[in-house]
Amino acid sequence: MANVTLSGLKKSFGAVHIIPDLDLEIADKEFVVLVGPSGCGKTTALRMIAGLEESSGGTIRIGDRDVTSLRPGLRNVAMVFQNYALYPHMNVAANIGYGMKARGEKPEAIQKAVAKAARIVALDKLLERRPKELSGGQRQRVAIARALVRDPDVFLFDEPLSNLDAKLRVEMRTEIRKLHRELQATMVYVTHDQVEAMTLADRVVVMNGGRIEQAADPLTLYTRPANVFVAGFIGAPSMNFVTVKAANGPDGPMIRLPEGALVSPPAAFHAALRSRLDQPLIMGIRPEHVVPCSDNPPLRLMIENIETLGSHRLLIGTVEGAPFTAQVPSGNTAKEGQMAALSPDPQNLHLFDATTTLSLLGQA
Ligand code: ATP
Repeated sequence: MANVTLSGLKKSFGAVHIIPDLDLEIADKEFVVLVGPSGCGKTTALRMIAGLEESSGGTIRIGDRDVTSLRPGLRNVAMVFQNYALYPHMNVAANIGYGMKARGEKPEAIQKAVAKAARIVALDKLLERRPKELSGGQRQRVAIARALVRDPDVFLFDEPLSNLDAKLRVEMRTEIRKLHRELQATMVYVTHDQVEAMTLADRVVVMNGGRIEQAADPLTLYTRPANVFVAGFIGAPSMNFVTVKAANGPDGPMIRLPEGALVSPPAAFHAALRSRLDQPLIMGIRPEHVVPCSDNPPLRLMIENIETLGSHRLLIGTVEGAPFTAQVPSGNTAKEGQMAALSPDPQNLHLFDATTTLSLLGQA
């Protein structure tokens, strides 16, 4: 069993508390991605699991072992870094087997393990090459193979794809996902790229300022973000936010948009709206959840820029002075400088408390 349990984990650099108090349970065989903006502490958390960074408090358990004060080599974890960290003067086989050789293992055992790992990451034809004779993707595969030969309890990945170009990143994403399926290993992966997080993870942990904002499977994060931060961070292009008010309608609670139009929200919001009549709220609506309309538009988007992406167009501008993006079909003929009339899809809108920024879903 290689579940990882972080309990009350803390990290300070001098007087700065980077991670104030982190609790996270990662299940055996789970693929967990830590995601968040630059500086939120995700790499520090990963390095503490690896033992490369000393914690300032709390405990780290791997399986039934408390590894908090064990040195990295005794934790049975393997880390794959962003910059590959390969030895330039060694060929692929020597790079993959380096750790085993350093531990004094027998040459036959090393050769067998290297061949197996190289096969898994499709490097078996390139074992004699030096790192400089490899592409970025192949180098990253060497780094992954080097982690594989250690047969670790937990794989740790620190932004392993950020040095690759966009196409290769997508290919390697698929390979890492496949690797996880085949190995059935516990993996903890750090990235600042929410698309990478959403496509790789069984569970995404969204971090901000050293704290967990929400930890959930990708679909839950997209459909039921717990607060404005997660709502704005997950999804590309980002969710739009408009200040609205709760109002009384003939058939139950409604939302009054800035220009006065009333929208009927899903029933899951009714109780929260009833107790917040006339109070300001934040409505979130994703670019893909607005539709162009004609008469009495609930939302008017002043178009400043249009991105034509083939399958659809993005109308980018402002609604009531706040930034707003709408995704419309490719046949849409709107032009920059014009006003676009839009209607939000009521079934896909999100509502948040304007003070706490927490979702009102299911709240009273
Ligand atoms: P990025 O995506 O930019 O790598 P991150 O979320 O991984 O960001 P960390 O690298 O964990 O962030 O850093 C968190 C904070 O801790 C940052 O503000 C960083 O400047 C600070 N920090 C990290 N290492 C040290 C250190 N050795 N000494 C002082 N401050 C540090």
